[in-house]
Amino acid sequence: MRGKIALEEHFATAETVQDSAGFVPESYWPELKARLLDIHERRLFEMDAHGVETMILSLNAPAVQAVRETGRAIELARRANDALAEQVARRPDRFQAFAALPMQDPEAAARELERCMRDLGFRGALVNGFSQRGDGDATLYYDHADYRGFWRAAQALDAPFYLHPRNPLAAHAEIYRGHEWLLGPTWAFGQETAVHALRLIGSGLFDECPDLKIILGHLGEGLPYSLWRIDHRNGWVKHPPRHRAKGSIASYVQRNFWLTTSGNFRTQTLIDAILELGADRILFSVDWPFENVDHAAHWFDAASISENDRRKIGRTNAMNLFKLDDASTGALVRAAE
Ligand code: MN
Repeated sequence: MRGKIALEEHFATAETVQDSAGFVPESYWPELKARLLDIHERRLFEMDAHGVETMILSLNAPAVQAVRETGRAIELARRANDALAEQVARRPDRFQAFAALPMQDPEAAARELERCMRDLGFRGALVNGFSQRGDGDATLYYDHADYRGFWRAAQALDAPFYLHPRNPLAAHAEIYRGHEWLLGPTWAFGQETAVHALRLIGSGLFDECPDLKIILGHLGEGLPYSLWRIDHRNGWVKHPPRHRAKGSIASYVQRNFWLTTSGNFRTQTLIDAILELGADRILFSVDWPFENVDHAAHWFDAASISENDRRKIGRTNAMNLFKLDDASTGALVRAAE
């Protein structure tokens, strides 16, 4: 399929690139590092070769979220966003941007999101899970009451928020001790991110901000497969749910969430996600440079779904969600050539 739009696609700056070391064996690091630091060469070549018209770019992980000093987190986010805006301005027909946000300070994060959306033309934000602040192993999850103002601002800006994985802190990862192979994309990323998403829902956030738009990668971090069970545990025991949300958990996932195919190129899983959320809420993505564009595209282009769904998931759902038009995604540029 030509004209695909992909939106979990990462880059790094010289300041943040080292955060991605360790996610591949050392012998692969030179390749991964080069992929992260490149925007206009290898990346565009891969996009052209495999029918990806537009990538919405985001900073690598955990980057800003792991900066314990709030002032430094604010400055790093600003520098990274300015650097990304410059790159996108060189090829706005092929690249768009998600903001990195200093969630260590909810008000500063809201201000930076507003700056990115209004002044830089960004399409939303991508945040790498919980944030760290100060010494010790404290973690900031965004269901906390301190973040309600931030969420109201995101809703007012109509800025989709991509909740991207990071690993749990070592102090919170006892269950993985001795089984470090489970960290990262194998399992811990999904577990960490799914629980964070459930915390947001259970806190009642979406009753207060019913128009918030949350994106999860990796076909929903396991949530679609578990939705029924989350709401129906011990179904013979009649008692009200113990979370603060008014509706069922599934009802919010189906109303406030969008999922991408990033790093999860499996038709069986895609069909489950379509069955739970509908084809209007699934979007094609790669997870470049950690996954290959050809692996994502070859799988998606041939997946046994209808051509109508392929068009939606590959392109038009993203155009609607991010208010992209044919001019901003290059179709007019190409037609004129
Ligand atoms: Mn990713």
